[in-house]
Amino acid sequence: MASQEIENLASALARLPGLGPRSARRAVLWLLKRRETALDQLLGAMAEVRDKLVECPTCGNIDTRAPCGICADHRRDPRAICVVEDVSDLWALDRAKLFTGKYHVLGGRLSALDGVRPEDLTIGALLERVGQGGVDEVVLAMNATLEGQTTAHYLAERLEEFPVRVTQLAHGLPVGGELDYLDEGTLAQALRARRPVG
Ligand SMILES: [Zn+2]
Repeated sequence: MASQEIENLASALARLPGLGPRSARRAVLWLLKRRETALDQLLGAMAEVRDKLVECPTCGNIDTRAPCGICADHRRDPRAICVVEDVSDLWALDRAKLFTGKYHVLGGRLSALDGVRPEDLTIGALLERVGQGGVDEVVLAMNATLEGQTTAHYLAERLEEFPVRVTQLAHGLPVGGELDYLDEGTLAQALRARRPVG
């Protein structure tokens, strides 16, 4: 039996996505055996991120500075905004390195079942960004789920009043597919073949 402290660490790690109790225990043991080379390093990196963590006031990305690295990057095209459900989708798309514009994180998806309404997402902030002008294209990069597509349709309607081209990721995304789980080639293909909404 491990001590209570070790058990606490294992149960905290077991809550991480992709880790269950068994893998968490193995990770704990692995860390305990490498106190100086791995445990201290992990603690340092976590503390640093925790202290500096901020949500970008413009796009909703999570970074260690505000505005985030993407919003602050002047080489990126501010005339194209790619709208995603979550930060994990932003990171997945950005790993594919094909989209050269800026992003907007909604903070979820519309869901009648979970009671998520438009005002629960950052839709107002998105419309404000587009309304300020200087935006030519809004790419709707919702997940290929029913709720993701409902959200995309809702956004496309709300964006009709602005003089922008609204596009969405090409079909060919697996139905029910979450962007975060797609390989970069598939994502890049969906982005390259994006088409107008409607
Ligand atoms: Zn940002």
